[in-house]
Amino acid sequence: MTAMASTMTKQLFLAEPLGFCGGVRLAVQTFEDMLKKYPGETIYVLHELVHNSVVTESMIAKGAMFVKNVEDIPVGAVALFGAHGVTTATEDVAKQRNLRLSNAVCPLVVQLQEKAARFDPNIPLVFFGDKQHPEVQSILDHAAAHDIHVISSMEEIDSLPPMQRAVFLSQTTRNAEVVAAIAKRLSERIPQFDNQAHVCPTVQKHQEAVRRLAQTCDAMLIIGSPHSANGRYLAELAGISKGHARLIENAQQLKPEDFENIQTLGLGTATSTPDSVIKDVIDWLHEHGFKTVAQETN
Ligand code: SF4
Repeated sequence: MTAMASTMTKQLFLAEPLGFCGGVRLAVQTFEDMLKKYPGETIYVLHELVHNSVVTESMIAKGAMFVKNVEDIPVGAVALFGAHGVTTATEDVAKQRNLRLSNAVCPLVVQLQEKAARFDPNIPLVFFGDKQHPEVQSILDHAAAHDIHVISSMEEIDSLPPMQRAVFLSQTTRNAEVVAAIAKRLSERIPQFDNQAHVCPTVQKHQEAVRRLAQTCDAMLIIGSPHSANGRYLAELAGISKGHARLIENAQQLKPEDFENIQTLGLGTATSTPDSVIKDVIDWLHEHGFKTVAQETN
C-alpha cells in the first residue's frame, strides 16, 4: 500500500519486519535460559550482547557483567558469547579457563565463518566491513591463512594492491545496495572476481521496507541505539543526511512540535531494538495524533 497524505489523520506506516533479528533473539533467549540454569550467579558476557542500551541495562539488572576480553572472566565462571562470534584464540582461552560457557553465535555468522575458511588460501580475500567489529574479527580469523584486505568504503578500493583474482565477502549487516556497488567496482578492477558477499536476509528486509517508505512518507523515524551500525545504516537509507529522517533511541526523545507538519510517517527499527521500546514509541505516536493505517509487507 502506498503512503498517501490525509488531511484528517496523521498516518503511521510500519517498515516491517520490526525489532530483533533471529540472531539477537537467540542471544537474548540464551541469556534468559542461563539465568534459570545458574540462579544467583554472575553471567559474564563478552562484548555487548545486543547493541541497545535498554537491553544492556536490563541484563545488568538481572546479573550480567560485560567484559571486553575473555581474560577478564574469572576461571570457572558462567559466560556467554553473543551473536557476532569469537576468534579461535578466544575459544581456546575460554577452554583453558574452564568457563561454563554458552555460545549464542548467530547461525548466519557461522555460515560466513565456514565459507571464509573454505576458499583456496592462494586466492586473496577482499572483505567489506568494519575491521574493529567482533563479527568481522571472528570471520577473518577463520580465513587467517588467506591474504586478506579489509575495506570499509568505496574510496578504499583505490588503495588495494593490483590483484589478478580475488574473492569478495562482506559483513552481514552492511547496506545491500552499497555492497552491490562495491562488488561492481571491484569486478571492473579484478579480472577473476568471485562475488560471495552475503548480507543478512533480515537486515535486507529491514532495509527494503525502510527504503520503500522513505520514498512516499513525509518523514521517517528509525529506532535504534546510536552505536548500532545497523540502525545508523537504516537512518542513512531513510534520509537522515537530508533531514528526512531521525534516529532515536526511545520515546523520551520525541517532542510533539517535531511532528507538527508531518502527515505521513514511516517507522523502521534496527535489528537490536527491543519490542518494549518499539511499543513505547508507537503508543506515543498514537497519543499524538498518528494512526497506524498500514503495515509494509515484504
Ligand atoms: S543481523 Fe542477521 S547475521 Fe547479524 S545476528 Fe542478526 S540474524 Fe544474524
